[in-house]
Amino acid sequence: MKNIVAGNWKSNKLLHEAMELMNEVKSGLSDTLSTEVIIAPPAPYLSVMTGQAGETLQVASQQCSATGSGAFTGEFTSAMLASCNINWVIIGHSERRQGYGETNDAVRDKLYAALDSGLHVLLCCGESLEVRESGAHFDWVQNQLSHALEGLSNEAMDGVVVAYEPIWAIGTGKTASSQQAQEMHAFIRTWLTNRFDQATAQACRILYGGSCKPSNADELFAQPDVNGGLIGGASLKAADFLAIVAAAEKH
Ligand code: PEP
Repeated sequence: MKNIVAGNWKSNKLLHEAMELMNEVKSGLSDTLSTEVIIAPPAPYLSVMTGQAGETLQVASQQCSATGSGAFTGEFTSAMLASCNINWVIIGHSERRQGYGETNDAVRDKLYAALDSGLHVLLCCGESLEVRESGAHFDWVQNQLSHALEGLSNEAMDGVVVAYEPIWAIGTGKTASSQQAQEMHAFIRTWLTNRFDQATAQACRILYGGSCKPSNADELFAQPDVNGGLIGGASLKAADFLAIVAAAEKH
């Protein structure tokens, strides 16, 4: 199973800056990588960047709508993304759940819409500091996953990658320790085994996200159930992002 390193650029970079960053990342990737490398630039640049990303770099949308086409001003559908050759979409990021009212139901609808359009999904889950401190973090993550994956078949899980992103570690510089990450990733894999089956759970990549950077990527990726990372801040500097890709290559 290949590791994945995905960069979430959020709402950063003007077009010329984004193109420059993409080109720097692209030129730093070898043709023989065994890690899948994905960038998620702001939506207005997706089409142009996909056309120029080349073979080794894949492009993801940071979200998609839960609906099909129609009178939904400002939304864009997963079928539209697929028609632009965008193959990946991030769904359920905590910033969308917290800032844009994305409920567990909306996350599930978006996931179904994306899979129906043939996209691969990076499904985010993760607890707040308050939930972790109350000791309910495993229940919280289980609840998010069971909602998002409700009714999904084992075969459809081929299109799903899970990203565990503790909210208290996102953009805070406070990384989960490799033990905390492994503990939650192992919990998620066991849950996937019970919900689907062992083969499906073993084949599912589980990424860690939250202040992952060159200095801690190696230790995080060395954990048996950590199959790469979803990277925010450190994906905005080509050298840092490439160093994280290099760490994923070692494991
Ligand atoms: C993210 O928002 O997905 C993320 C992991 O951010 P950061 O790496 O900046 O914590």
